[in-house]
Amino acid sequence: MIYVGFLCFWETQPRVVFVLVHPVPQKDPTQMNNSQVNRTSLFKMAAPIPGSTHECEGSMASVKAVSSAAPLALRIVAECPVSKARACTLALSHCAVSTPVFMPVGTQGTLKGITIDQLEDLDCQICLGNTYHLGMRPGPELIEKANGLHGFMKWSRNLLTDSGGFQMVSLLELSEVTEEGVTFRSPYDGKEILLTPEQSIAIQNSLGSDIMMQLDDVVSSTVKGPRVEEAMHRSVRWLDRCIAGNKNPDRQNLFAIIQGGLDAKLRKACLDEMTKRDVPGFAIGGLSGGEQKDDFWKMVTLSTDHLPREKPRYLMGVGYALDLVVCVALGCDMFDCVFPTRTARFGSALVPWGSLQLKQKQYAKDFKPIDPDCKCPTCRRHSRAYLHALFKSDTAAMHHITIHNISYQVIINYMFLNQYLVLLLSFHLLLFSPYRFSAHPHAVSASEHHRAEVS
Ligand SMILES: [Zn+2]
Repeated sequence: MIYVGFLCFWETQPRVVFVLVHPVPQKDPTQMNNSQVNRTSLFKMAAPIPGSTHECEGSMASVKAVSSAAPLALRIVAECPVSKARACTLALSHCAVSTPVFMPVGTQGTLKGITIDQLEDLDCQICLGNTYHLGMRPGPELIEKANGLHGFMKWSRNLLTDSGGFQMVSLLELSEVTEEGVTFRSPYDGKEILLTPEQSIAIQNSLGSDIMMQLDDVVSSTVKGPRVEEAMHRSVRWLDRCIAGNKNPDRQNLFAIIQGGLDAKLRKACLDEMTKRDVPGFAIGGLSGGEQKDDFWKMVTLSTDHLPREKPRYLMGVGYALDLVVCVALGCDMFDCVFPTRTARFGSALVPWGSLQLKQKQYAKDFKPIDPDCKCPTCRRHSRAYLHALFKSDTAAMHHITIHNISYQVIINYMFLNQYLVLLLSFHLLLFSPYRFSAHPHAVSASEHHRAEVS
């Protein structure tokens, strides 16, 4: 008999509940309904860590006041007794982050379609910056003069910067990888630029991000053969160069990135090597690039099986609701993806039952909000009909939908409350039954979304 565990969230503060359900018979998933979920026990879990964390503040003054805190500390608040899901408080120098967390992607010091004030109002605790693009324009020297990316953006909460490695995939035709580093041809002026592990870290030191990513040798998850093994070993060697190059280990947390493609032996070898290094956290990289879901999940769970329990686990480039829920169950804490902002610009509003294509005629006279249960500013004020009309004459519709979509993703507890139970049950049903998932319809397009946004 197998029990399935559920971890649910509501409101914005830790209200964590475990729900155990009775064993699930293997049957046609189309016949499944909520009545099959038999809740047998509920456990309220602990409040935030006293003394060791602090709430996000809105002023830069508060940033300085707390910046002497330890650079990173992970406290596990609750763990699911059956799945690998867990709720944690990640204490960073700017404020505490409740995990699981979705981190919106700001490519060049801003999130497209949303202001910093609006992002704060949505209770976003951490967002991403892009080292490659910020290193190109406006450049690390200028940003350092503005007291780093926090000061440049006037963002008082946490920042994670990537290493520039992803551009090896997104700008493949403009890059060449050698042991020394990656040579890019600038899309702006055609000049060649060599990005080494040391230079990536130097730029990220100038940006002053709370979490920095190592430069890794990234290959698409659909690539097979010796190139995958070469990239894995090189990523380990580059990790050591990044660690040696970090001038601010007391203030900036460097995360390693597990590579190895879809080859379990290579990924395990990478895990064995990288976990020997004393880094503050680990990312799972090289996935979500169009591979089959079966392969994707196997690599995620293999990785979380061998990553240290006491350190944060960041699954890179994952942002679809189903993927978030499943990968939380597989033990991941942090996620990022450009999907919610990019899809908003095409008029697609995310809702618990899928998405609304607000450009379609059917919404022209629909006076309901995007989601009647959503508390975001867009849903509190505007109707689907209004947003539909705006698309004909004004870019404001994109901004309004971006706010809704970011709210939907950032307030991950909203999604969990509405979907986690059903989705995780579906996942277990399908994983352990003859009715296996085929590739998710979004699987192929995920990397395309990311590429279009970041490149
Ligand atoms: Zn909304």
